[in-house]
Amino acid sequence: MKSVAIIGAGITGLTAAFYLKRQGVPVTVYEAGGRAGGVIQSLRQDGFLAEFGPNTILETSPKIKQLIIDAGLEARKLNSDPTAEARYVVRYGRPIQMPGSPLGFFTTPLFTAKAKFAVLCEPFIKPRRDGVEESIGQFVVRRFNQEFLDHAIDALVAGIYAGDPHKLSLPHAFPKLKALEDNYGSMIKGQIFGARDRKKSGEVAKDRAAKFSFDEGLQVLPDTLAAQLGGSLKLNTPVSKLTRTNDGWRVTTANGEEEFGAVIYCGTAHQLAKLEIEAAQQRRPAETFSEISYPPVSAVVLGFRREDVAHSCLGFGMLIPKIEGFKILGTIFSSALFPNRAPAGHVTLTSYIGGARYPELGLLPEKELIEATLADLRVLLGVKGRPVFTQTATYPRAIPQYNVGYGKYRELLKAIEAKAPNLFFAGHYRDGVSLGDSIVSGVNIAERVAKIF
Ligand SMILES: Cc1cc2nc3c(=O)[nH]c(=O)nc-3n(C[C@H](O)[C@H](O)[C@H](O)COP(=O)(O)OP(=O)(O)OC[C@H]3O[C@@H](n4cnc5c(N)ncnc54)[C@H](O)[C@@H]3O)c2cc1C
Repeated sequence: MKSVAIIGAGITGLTAAFYLKRQGVPVTVYEAGGRAGGVIQSLRQDGFLAEFGPNTILETSPKIKQLIIDAGLEARKLNSDPTAEARYVVRYGRPIQMPGSPLGFFTTPLFTAKAKFAVLCEPFIKPRRDGVEESIGQFVVRRFNQEFLDHAIDALVAGIYAGDPHKLSLPHAFPKLKALEDNYGSMIKGQIFGARDRKKSGEVAKDRAAKFSFDEGLQVLPDTLAAQLGGSLKLNTPVSKLTRTNDGWRVTTANGEEEFGAVIYCGTAHQLAKLEIEAAQQRRPAETFSEISYPPVSAVVLGFRREDVAHSCLGFGMLIPKIEGFKILGTIFSSALFPNRAPAGHVTLTSYIGGARYPELGLLPEKELIEATLADLRVLLGVKGRPVFTQTATYPRAIPQYNVGYGKYRELLKAIEAKAPNLFFAGHYRDGVSLGDSIVSGVNIAERVAKIF
């Protein structure tokens, strides 16, 4: 039996490899870097646990739960603390808890009476059906109002994509919101009546999905999947070229060439643009992927003595809209979410800086990242003195921006797959940017490829 080459040992590639191997299909995974996990990175030091990339997995699909069971990780899985559900959004220079019920919405100081009235009117706004691709910003202003965009959605968009709401595409970056308008004519009606349909499909809305991690952070998952691959995971081995053969593909790396029946590309869009693919008379059919913006983001993980932080920090964290004028995009209250993220009597706060909002800040040197974060946390959370633990990580190219026009790249992927048989594309640049989306993408691509073997 011919084997499958998987390019990229992020969560997508590792999930695909895990399931192909379980079905008896031999795999080789090539990873350009020196470790498995891609953007997932957890570090245990001095009793603190720093999580630099994603912090939680949202259990939005039964496939995610199944992977954890199949990988034998149920005993190491940690559900987030149910008392840490509170989310804060900054307004008037302070974090205000987001309302969790309709009554809470009408009494919250987070929005003015005008914005609350706009929400009441939303079910009566006619759905747009002219096929024009809107940004999430245009959509929110059309269905709600400017205040809702500036003081709520801008912050949420920073939390998911580190993105710009005026650029992110409604159908590509927020397909579920678009579907609510298409299917129910309104967000509010869709939230109410869509629950029944979601139940049927087994899918769970992001705001209701369980959040989890592992005892030693998310890195446990890629490490476990990578360990099962043994010698078929090749680290520090970037793939530079793919050449079509009579019955599959030749994969070229600095170490030589190897032949496979199929190839699954699970890397990033910007690295795909550089990959030489000899197929369909074109050497670099994916060159235009270099246009996809991946703004830099730095994670700043700070540990404090409990008494040096005035805010309770009980909750998921806080998001900060641009209009509030802070440098950080938001902060996760890491030690409230999961146990063992900080030694007793301490708190761990994970802040993000940069993104499409302030790309230049995402590349600041470590010392400046820490000082900028501390300055904001002093005002927002009443932090005093110096942190007792500091760790930072910079992602020069963090999250792909599914901006207006992103459909062209998705179409191109389909067109390359059609012209280059047994070459497949999966992962965060195609199937959604969340960790859960990447896991589902890895499961689905393994099913698709297993069928041809
Ligand atoms: C800072 C940050 C915070 C995030 N927070 C969250 C969160 O809280 N919740 C959430 O759900 N999601 C979050 N995400 C998103 C989520 O982590 C990612 O979408 C997901 O992990 C992507 O996995 P992947 O395997 O598709 O890609 P990646 O993790 O990018 O892995 C791709 C791998 O492919 C390798 N590669 C590329 N080209 C080649 C080549 N030619 N040869 C060999 N190897 C190659 C790369 O080296 C890399 O290791 C966050 C992302 C970032 C950056």
